[in-house]
Amino acid sequence: MAISEKRGSALDEKPALVREAQDLEEYARSIGADVFGIAAAEAFTEFPNKPRPDTFVPGAKSVVVLGVANTPGLFASVSTPDLAEISPKGAEYAARSAKYMDRPPAGAERYFLNDELAQMTNDVMRIGYKTSWKLRREGYRAFYFTPFSQDARFRTAPFSLMPAMYLTGLGQMGFNCSILHPEFGPRLWVTAIVTDKELPAGKPLGAHYYEGCKSCLECVKNCPIRALNGKGWKNVWRCAAYGCCGTCLSVCPIGKTAAVPAAA
Ligand code: SF4
Ligand code: SF4
Repeated sequence: MAISEKRGSALDEKPALVREAQDLEEYARSIGADVFGIAAAEAFTEFPNKPRPDTFVPGAKSVVVLGVANTPGLFASVSTPDLAEISPKGAEYAARSAKYMDRPPAGAERYFLNDELAQMTNDVMRIGYKTSWKLRREGYRAFYFTPFSQDARFRTAPFSLMPAMYLTGLGQMGFNCSILHPEFGPRLWVTAIVTDKELPAGKPLGAHYYEGCKSCLECVKNCPIRALNGKGWKNVWRCAAYGCCGTCLSVCPIGKTAAVPAAA
């Protein structure tokens, strides 16, 4: 959904800001972004246990979230790890592994996905880098996060992208501990830019958690190592030990039939 479609009455009072946000969105989409949203930095008080935007940019006013979507078919391959055994060598390896383990090696489900994720990480970094430079050239501070900069001490990112996505209106939290975008589901790679430029913010789509999760639970049932508790909490150490296989994202019905993103 474009910024122009998300305008509320408060934004109508600031048409110049709306135009500037549309300009920024058009630029981000022209260099490959599939999703774009803006949150007000002050709205992060809703998540008091998460890092605040002004930790990174003094006087921060806005957080811009940009991202790219997985190709739907490729992510579906995560739910069918047997695909990796189509070659005689793969089948032989799987048979040998089966003698010693009761399941495929950790993270084997990502056999076809890993290269795409590497490409998407590069794309997201490029889009974040170039969009942050656009803001800097206009005279603003702009700090962007690489998608997977984890702090080795806590196995978590320095800035929490999920609250940012939620506050922009890009989606609600699912029981697989990802934001569920109405079109792409949880199959998105995003970055965020913290800036001291004031921009019109989007609105959350509803409560923090997506109500439909309670009657679905597909991610919880399909996690090979039971890392999800069915209430929106994940044992991240267990998940990491199993290679963050991605099954809980692959099986999620939200966005499974997503259209291919429009060409830039
Ligand atoms: S929680 Fe982790 S281990 Fe479980 S399905 Fe999701 S990515 Fe795989
Ligand atoms: S698989 Fe179902 S329960 Fe899990 S996040 Fe998706 S909609 Fe929610």
